[in-house]
Amino acid sequence: MDWTRRTAAEQAAALATGEVTSVQLAKAQLDRIAETDGQVHAFLEVDAEGALAQAAASDARRSADGPASPLDGVPIAVKDVLATKGLPTTCGSRILEGWVPPYDATVVGRIKAAGLPILGKTNMDEFAMGSSTEHSAYGPTHNPWDLDRIPGGSGGGSAAAVASYQAPLALGTDTGGSIRQPAAVTGSVGVKPTYGGVSRYGLVALANSLDQVGPVTRTVLDSALLHDVIGGHDPLDSTSLEHEWPSFAEAAREGARGDLSGVRVGVVTELGGEGYQPGVQARFDEAVQTLVAAGAEVVEVSCPHFVHALATYYLILPAECSSNLARFDAMRYGIRVLPEGVVDPSAEEVMRATRDAGFGDEVKRRIILGTYALSSGYYDAYYGQAQKVRTLISRDFEAAFERVDVLVSPTAPTTAFRLGEKLDDPLAMYLNDLATIPANLAGVPGISVPAGLAEEDGLPVGLQILAPALGDERLYRVGAAAEALLQRGWGGPLLAQAPELEGASA
Ligand code: GLN
Repeated sequence: MDWTRRTAAEQAAALATGEVTSVQLAKAQLDRIAETDGQVHAFLEVDAEGALAQAAASDARRSADGPASPLDGVPIAVKDVLATKGLPTTCGSRILEGWVPPYDATVVGRIKAAGLPILGKTNMDEFAMGSSTEHSAYGPTHNPWDLDRIPGGSGGGSAAAVASYQAPLALGTDTGGSIRQPAAVTGSVGVKPTYGGVSRYGLVALANSLDQVGPVTRTVLDSALLHDVIGGHDPLDSTSLEHEWPSFAEAAREGARGDLSGVRVGVVTELGGEGYQPGVQARFDEAVQTLVAAGAEVVEVSCPHFVHALATYYLILPAECSSNLARFDAMRYGIRVLPEGVVDPSAEEVMRATRDAGFGDEVKRRIILGTYALSSGYYDAYYGQAQKVRTLISRDFEAAFERVDVLVSPTAPTTAFRLGEKLDDPLAMYLNDLATIPANLAGVPGISVPAGLAEEDGLPVGLQILAPALGDERLYRVGAAAEALLQRGWGGPLLAQAPELEGASA
């Protein structure tokens, strides 16, 4: 039995019947990582010892008091931007090399309390800035569908770990698309919850008003199960919502029956057509037809201000990150670099040398952009203006959701591009988030589910579903329906069509 091929829900069911132990599952996943991560490089840190100890504790708990949660004993991978007590947390940056947090992020504490053994920390673009993981200071992650291609970013490590069966579950973070776009280009499922729905405490901030933690998995049900574990109010996060959330797993199970009668679906005019790869557009159009066949009413909806979303995001995000990253001052966290040839350097000189050596080019670019946008004289023209457009984008969503229950679009305009292809062209890289960014600006939730393979390159395409704030349940309902219906056409999960990694035993 190859346990690594099983979904988290299947692993949980096998644990419940005693068919397998958590230690066996953790070992199987760790073996898979050892066999394949030389090629994929999804992990920055593997914690075999910790995972096996947590798995043994889960097995003991199950035979004593019973499981702590429906996912007790199912292994998980965690993006390296989330603080893990006793486990290095680098955010993909040199500046945090060797930093071991003294505390757990709330979501990490919750998965531990729910009994999920943590396999390790996954690779990412430095401080979550990027769409390819090529901005990681520790080398890129490779897409398991084609090792010469990017796995998306910034959370390419989490998506590649899940898509290459190294882990059934992973945590990601999504500021402009970093859960959904990697899910799309690796044939996985990724969810960005409603802003405030999942705690950000212990998430190293990129842009506080945009960041959300969420699940990365191979099925919609698995994302729902994980969301049920990590979500809910946290007094340690001042933006955390006090809201009674329904069971997302239940919504996913209901949705999987594939009946969408009465569900109103809006296709966003501005998120498609020109600039979208033909094979991506074709799979998306077919996915929409599948929703129609399941009984959904589909209409086209215009969100006119979405065309300004990218420009708005690239003012607000750099502004917030330039102030967030000021905390890396060589005094409090991570590395300290002394300036060369300076006797008795001042604190400022040490700070400059450390930030120069510790930050990569993309991080420096955004700090400079953000500092400029916030500087006096430019604040009103850039940052203030961007905030106004942000409001207009939120209003577009509000108007749209008066007419429809969910909005849909392709998740990303292209399939996975080649490593190196866009590395020297920041704007081309930014364009990859065209369709995912509006949701972050407005705080609404979104999911990406596999929509098939693009004709021209045989690579995965994602269907993005967006719901109003607090409407995360709809993502699981409609997402699970789309998944079930599309899989009927493919004769099974899309990932089953991915090539086997060389050197890995089947
Ligand atoms: N790719 C986007 C960026 O570079 C999104 C990043 C993210 O969601 N963390 O900002």
